[in-house]
Amino acid sequence: MFENLSERLSGVFDKLTKQGALSDEDVKTALREVRVALLEADVSLPVARDFIKAIQDKATGQAVTKSVTPGQQVVKIVHDELVHVLAGDEEDPGALKIDNPPTPILMVGLQGSGKTTTTGKLAKRLTEKNGKRVLMASLDIYRPAAMQQLAVLGTQIGVDTLPIVAGETAVQIAKRAKQQATLGGYDVYMLDTAGRLQIDQTLMQEVEDVRDAVNPRETLLVVDGLTGQVAVEVAEEFDGKIGISGVVLTRMDGDGRGGAALSMRAVTGKPIKFVGLGEKMDALEEFHPERIAGRILG
Ligand code: GDP
Repeated sequence: MFENLSERLSGVFDKLTKQGALSDEDVKTALREVRVALLEADVSLPVARDFIKAIQDKATGQAVTKSVTPGQQVVKIVHDELVHVLAGDEEDPGALKIDNPPTPILMVGLQGSGKTTTTGKLAKRLTEKNGKRVLMASLDIYRPAAMQQLAVLGTQIGVDTLPIVAGETAVQIAKRAKQQATLGGYDVYMLDTAGRLQIDQTLMQEVEDVRDAVNPRETLLVVDGLTGQVAVEVAEEFDGKIGISGVVLTRMDGDGRGGAALSMRAVTGKPIKFVGLGEKMDALEEFHPERIAGRILG
């Protein structure tokens, strides 16, 4: 099992003589442990390196307060900085830009990331919590089962889905969804795009075409929070090609350490808006930076 950062650091500081302020040497030794903890939590190497640099400046020379041990103090500095990076400038990460009805929301990501499930969860939330009328449409023309899955979810949560018409392209379905959402007086229409097991050019081109056809107000990337470094590469790729407005991290009910969240935030600069916490339709939460920070620290 992982040793948490407090345990690691108390070991380090126990060996050092008590001083009035954290010395350069104390901080350097402590930060080596912080670095290991970050890497074990699946934070990517360059992000861990930058992070360490940022806290080095903050920690050096800080007076050691009497109430806490130097180890606890470093953990607090690291924790606060994690929250700072994870939270960014967003005041309300879970708020979606829903203004001109019908507002298009594009859901993108790899197959198996939890995209369809998250589309349903979010539609349910928008309906029940925000009082919006939502229409969902599956654009997965390659997997009829995926289209069916969204229809079943829709029935289950009481959210309308666009009727399935065989033989249409993804762009045609997207346009039909827009039309139906307009005519039907919906506030939001959500497009669940097709995923692949890996990023490929055809997939990206298709998502780009859909994006250009509907001009989404939000483009949410759904990524499996357990996939660590892969999740970060996926986020970079989708953001570079499609331009995402936010991230939904799924499978955070698993035992992943959450380092991917930090890396993704640092690399793309895009907010993590929601976290998936299970297979059920209400297992979706707004992103809480402190919870992920706590998980990264162990
Ligand atoms: P898609 O291919 O990206 O549309 O993925 P699906 O939505 O079909 O999800 C794939 C599997 O992951 C399904 O069995 C979902 O129930 C499951 N899943 C989705 N989100 C979560 C989550 O947050 N936690 C857990 N434990 N399972 C999830």
